[in-house]
Amino acid sequence: MPRDPKAQDAPPLDLKLSPRQELACCLRLLAAEGYNENFAGHITWQPPGQSAMWCNPAGLWWNEVTASDVCLVGLNGDVVEGRWPVTEAIFIHTELHRRRPNARVIVHGHPYYATLLSAIPAPPVIGHQAGCVFDGEIGVVNEYDGAVNNADAGQHLADNVGAATGVILASHGALVMGDNVAMATFRAVSFERMCRMTVDLKKMGASAQAILPQFRKHNYEWLKTKGASQYWAGAVRQLVKDQPEVLS
Ligand SMILES: [Zn+2]
Repeated sequence: MPRDPKAQDAPPLDLKLSPRQELACCLRLLAAEGYNENFAGHITWQPPGQSAMWCNPAGLWWNEVTASDVCLVGLNGDVVEGRWPVTEAIFIHTELHRRRPNARVIVHGHPYYATLLSAIPAPPVIGHQAGCVFDGEIGVVNEYDGAVNNADAGQHLADNVGAATGVILASHGALVMGDNVAMATFRAVSFERMCRMTVDLKKMGASAQAILPQFRKHNYEWLKTKGASQYWAGAVRQLVKDQPEVLS
């Protein structure tokens, strides 16, 4: 059957979200995907052309954050707008935002399977096509050197992260980056899934078959352009239907 030329590529989100609403949705979606070691973890979003970052408040669990809880934080770590403090580890984010143009959104959390790999530490393997969204961009920071609660420690971490967008932090957890909220959320979901598959493959005593480079490259581009937006539209539609208070 010929394709209707007026047909859209995929169902749109059809909902205009403020930056606070967008980050609150991201937090709740990732909490439901395993980024929920009680109160731990933080996500920042520094839109292009803006120095201040949107960030979740310290102490609220990701699955209870609403849009009005989201804070605006300066690059020195001080809260500019918002009714709550943010994490003392904000310097994980400030220094990566400073030096990485493609890291507009930075997710840091302790999802179980990424944290399990961090205990070794070992990287996840790309054993499934969705993992290609990290093709050539998986990193491991092998040293654990405590809390990143000042700019010097943040710069040291950023040195070790390099150009990676999906990172295992030894004895700690995961860092996932993207150039917008949809991309970072989709990548974070895919990263934890990839870590889970890696752990299961190890338990099976098996190893993943490599995906050929030309297919990895094709998948990388498709997932970045279409996959992330299709994921985001569907995930937010369902979230807002089930938990409409997230937008308040
Ligand atoms: Zn952490």
